[in-house]
Order: sequence, then C-alpha cells, then structure tokens
Amino acid sequence: MFKIGVGPSSSHTLGPWRAAQRFCNMLETSGKLYEVTALRILLYGSLAKTGKGHGTDIAIQLGLDGQDPVTFDVDQINSRINDIRNMKELVLNGKHEIGFNPDEDIEFFMNENLPYHPNALSFLATLKNGDNLSETYYSIGGGFVEKEGEKNSASQSVQLPFPVDTADELLHWCMKTGLSISEVVMENETSWRSEGETRKGVLNTWRVMQECIYRGIHTEGMLPGGLQVKRRAAELNRKLIAGRQYNDYNSWVSTMRQGGNDFRYIIDWVSCFALAVNEENASFGRVVTAPTNGAAGVIPAVLQYYISFTDGYSEEKIIQFLLTASEIGSIFKKGATISAAMGGCQAEIGVSSAMAAAALTECMGGTQRQCIMAAEIAMEHHLGLTCDPIGGLVQIPCIERNTMGAIKAITASQLALQSAPDFAKVSLDAVIRTMWDTAKDMNHKYKETSDGGLAVHIPISLSEC
Ligand code: SF4
Repeated sequence: MFKIGVGPSSSHTLGPWRAAQRFCNMLETSGKLYEVTALRILLYGSLAKTGKGHGTDIAIQLGLDGQDPVTFDVDQINSRINDIRNMKELVLNGKHEIGFNPDEDIEFFMNENLPYHPNALSFLATLKNGDNLSETYYSIGGGFVEKEGEKNSASQSVQLPFPVDTADELLHWCMKTGLSISEVVMENETSWRSEGETRKGVLNTWRVMQECIYRGIHTEGMLPGGLQVKRRAAELNRKLIAGRQYNDYNSWVSTMRQGGNDFRYIIDWVSCFALAVNEENASFGRVVTAPTNGAAGVIPAVLQYYISFTDGYSEEKIIQFLLTASEIGSIFKKGATISAAMGGCQAEIGVSSAMAAAALTECMGGTQRQCIMAAEIAMEHHLGLTCDPIGGLVQIPCIERNTMGAIKAITASQLALQSAPDFAKVSLDAVIRTMWDTAKDMNHKYKETSDGGLAVHIPISLSEC
C-alpha cells in the first residue's frame, strides 16, 4: 500500500508514470523500441480533466524518457521537461531518441471515458515500417496500474498463510492465532520476501516519510500551479519551536517535546506534519503514496505524532504501525476503492485516516478488535466526502484535508481505546460496503474531475507548467 514516488497525485502522476515505463519496457522486450518513429498519448476521463494540474503530462514524459519515480532527482523535473519541450525530442526508455512535441503528442479527451475506469490512457507508437502498436492502461488508484485485458493476479498466485479480503477474515486469523494485526501481515509478507527484507523496506518507507516532513517544514514560498497558495508548514514550525535550537531530525523531535503537552500545542504539531508532507506533494516533491498522494500526509502525521508525543522512536513500533496501516488499506482496496476517481475523497483521506487510526491503536496497546473499531470510526465520519480540487491542483482542499484526516484518526483511535468493541453497532466491513455504495451513487462531478464543488466556485486560470 506504500510506494515511494513523486507528487502530486498517485492516480494521475505516479500511475501514468508507471504506465509509460511499462509501455517502454514492452517495446524493448518485444524488440520494437528502436523501430519507433513517433508516439502519441491519449488521456481520457478524469485523467484528462485534472491531468494538467496533477502533472500527468509531465509524469508520462519522464516515464517515456526512462526515468524512475523512486530515484529521479525531483529538482531536475523542470529542467528535463523544458529540454523535451524546447528540443522536441525525448529518449525513449533512456535509449532511443525520437521527435516528441508534448503540446501535440499528448491529447486530453475531456469528454470521453473508457468503460473500465475513469483514469485511462493509451499509448500509440508508429514504427518504421508504418505499423502501429498501441496499449491502454488504467490508473486504478494509489499508483497501481492495470493494462487493458489484464487482471493483476500477483497476490492470487501466492499462497498466503493468512489470506485476508475482509476485516472479519483478518479478525478471524487474529483470534485464531493470537497474533496482532501487524504480526499477521508480517507472516503474510514472508510469502514474498524474508522478514529482514520486509523490515528494511518498511523502515525505508518511514525514512522517506520522515525526510518529506523535515523538508516540508523547512521550505517556504508559493506552491506551483497558479493558485498562489502559500506554504504554511515552515512558518508553523517556527512558531511552535519558538526559538529553541535543533540541527537535525532527531534534535528537532527532542526540541518539540520540550514544548510540553498542551492540547492545542499537539494539535498544531499534527497539522504542521500533515501540511509539510502535502506541500511537498503539491510541489512535485518526493513522497510516499499512503495510500494515495493526495492523502500522503495523514499517515506520516499520525506516526510522527506517535513518535513525538507518546512512546517515542522505536523501529519495532514504526514497523508495527506501517504494517497495520497497510493491511487496513488493502482491505479497503479489495472491498471498495482507494481511487478518488471512483469514490471521491472518502476513498483517499477517509481510507488513510482509517489506516492511521488502526495503526495508532495497535501501537498504543489496543486489542485487534479495537484497531478494527478505530478504522471503522475513522471511515464512518468520512463517508460521502467528495473530491473537488480547485483548478485540478492537489492543494485546496487537499492539503488542509490531510490535517483533518490525521486529527480524526487520532480521535477515532482514542475513542476505540476507550470503548468495548462488543457494543459497536457498525462493523468495518459494513462501513466499507457503505463507502462503496456511496461511491457508486456519488455524482461524477465529485470524483476528481474538478467539475463540481469548490472547483467551480473558486475558478482559476491555470498557467502552463
Ligand atoms: S480532494 Fe481529496 S481525493 Fe480529491 S485530490 Fe484532494 S485529497 Fe485527493
């Protein structure tokens, strides 16, 4: 559920980037890469409507150019994109130079949708002999991509010790074995890789989240895109630190703790963490998709809250937190959706809040049922949340919305820790079904199209970027 990538959108930036890489790999493995003379990309539906604001065109060009979203230096994005635009050339898969004019070769079909999913894109390559080669991909949320006609069967081909599709199944395994949620996940993960590799991967995920927060609280200025949104995390950090000295992440955390435990002080910090990540996301910075980019701030903010204001830093707890969160996200993905183009913002901020709530509850010593209850509470109070980003940019309401998702996660966790799950009236599976029904009934205007809500009441004219 966690992927290291580049902002601002998992469905509209990371997914298309991955699709472009997959198309290039197909060209190369089929021996056609050096035969390509021209390339067109067609964007449909939600991908076309908010593609400019979400940097879809930029991501596709970088993917075609052989760059990887995990390793590409985000400070080089503008210069590489300007080079392609000015020279009207890109190096397909980093190996084969072709003529490419992004203004003409990337087409946005605002009013056309492909039936399988609202986030669709097609690659059409023309070969030396005049033949055409095309593939269509769907960006199905959280940076996951499916090629037309292909169903992702990776998880089905592996026999897991504890197969889980629903919260009830997860609880069944927990009750049967006495394992915590994170321990069940770790057991399942060993079907793919060793425990040591999983631990290393999870800690690396946290490292990227942590660096993102730290970069975000030290970066000022305006966000790109033409909406003139001022970054706020750096100023808030300065106010809260109140002149105390620090020189790295660890001393920053220690310094933060010296400020005490006042309720408003802690709430301000949680907001600061979330703002920092999502301002980075909106600036094409390196973030962890969790489970999407628009909602990338919720989980780091709650985990940073846990580290700063509860038990402190421990690798065990970080692993426990992220494994538990990932399992909850996975259950939402299987039972409903994590794509705002399918389900609105409840599928992004709502899911990330539910993931964080369960994870925090486990780290705070809650039972497995309290963890599930916390996830249920967090989602219950995000049901129906629509997606209507102004100008198609992942800025308003997205950045502040992460602060809300984080605070709700902490509240949901506390409520669950203070409750007896036996008396809960709504199960997590019921709330997931409700979320999916709500997603299906939701007007398409509120599904990442910028055709409704705030997006139409606060119009801007987007500058080309
Ligand atoms: S409104 Fe919510 S779902 Fe839509 S782009 Fe923003 S964070 Fe994502």
